[in-house]
Amino acid sequence: MRLLKGEDPLAIKEAGRIIREGGIVVFPTETVYGLGADAFNAQAVARVFEVKKRPYFDPLIVHIKDPKDLEEICEGVDERVKKLMDRFWPGPLTLVLPKKDKVPDIVTSGLKTVAVRMPYHPVALSLIKESQTFIAAPSANSFGKLSPTRVEHVLKDIGDKVDLILDGGPCEVGLESTILALYPRPTLLRPGGIPLEEIEKLIGKVEIASSGERPLAPGGLSKHYSPRTALRILREGEKIPEGLKLGLLAFRKPREGPFWAIEVLSERGDLREAASRFFEALHRLDSLGLDLILAEPFPEEGLGLAIMDRLRKAEGDRKA
Ligand code: AMP
Ligand code: MG
Repeated sequence: MRLLKGEDPLAIKEAGRIIREGGIVVFPTETVYGLGADAFNAQAVARVFEVKKRPYFDPLIVHIKDPKDLEEICEGVDERVKKLMDRFWPGPLTLVLPKKDKVPDIVTSGLKTVAVRMPYHPVALSLIKESQTFIAAPSANSFGKLSPTRVEHVLKDIGDKVDLILDGGPCEVGLESTILALYPRPTLLRPGGIPLEEIEKLIGKVEIASSGERPLAPGGLSKHYSPRTALRILREGEKIPEGLKLGLLAFRKPREGPFWAIEVLSERGDLREAASRFFEALHRLDSLGLDLILAEPFPEEGLGLAIMDRLRKAEGDRKA
């Protein structure tokens, strides 16, 4: 494995060559770091699943460099889709549309639809261009674990199993993309970096998929995005447990209590700032050998919806 600076044009050239030749590359995006392979090379994509230990029933997102690329791999690019692309691309919105045959089944886990996104991170865009293909990529972490928002997170986890890592610094949005299916009607499959309210302003009411309806999205698994340490969301009026080595994930300010470590996500109460620090703060708390991480609930509006989704997944069924 090699680690190169994402802003170096030679590094991008090298990364593009590796993708073209069927290798796998970790690259920065505005959401989280991705583990990418040529979307049309089924063997290369299979290696992505292997390295992540990701189950094959869990499809990947195809990353494109231009809205025009969408019609190469999708059907159903109608007025709604064009409006969404105009407004939110490049950016953290993933669209799920009927796929064309040229998209290999392994990318979509055999589904007839494909998830597509155009990122705005300049390193991601340059890499897709340089590779002369589209890049299928999930987050660059072991399946079910915390998503990586810095290159250090990748190095600690799967760093030694990939061909090249491009360092692009910390991820600006810090949460995965919002995933929206368009057919048969607009449905939110995963809350993420683009707030649901903004999508609804543009195309009207969006249904929210219940977990039963989206068994194919990790967002739909009851436990995901998890630290190794047990995590629990603090409920209103709940007593802080005693005799445990505790960490606190707080929104605006620390609270009183026997905490070993406290992470405050946004003193000014800005959900965007909180989202961008979310995984990073959890990675830090997770490295301290705590018995339990307590997380304050976040308001479920704007990016708060995505934060609460990740916290509930991290909590899973554990009641520790
Ligand atoms: P990740 O790249 O790790 O953020 O995961 C990609 C997400 O996109 C997962 O939640 C996938 O299940 C979801 N996804 C990818 N393709 C599809 C699809 N065709 N239909 C529904 N969800 C999808
Ligand atoms: Mg992921």
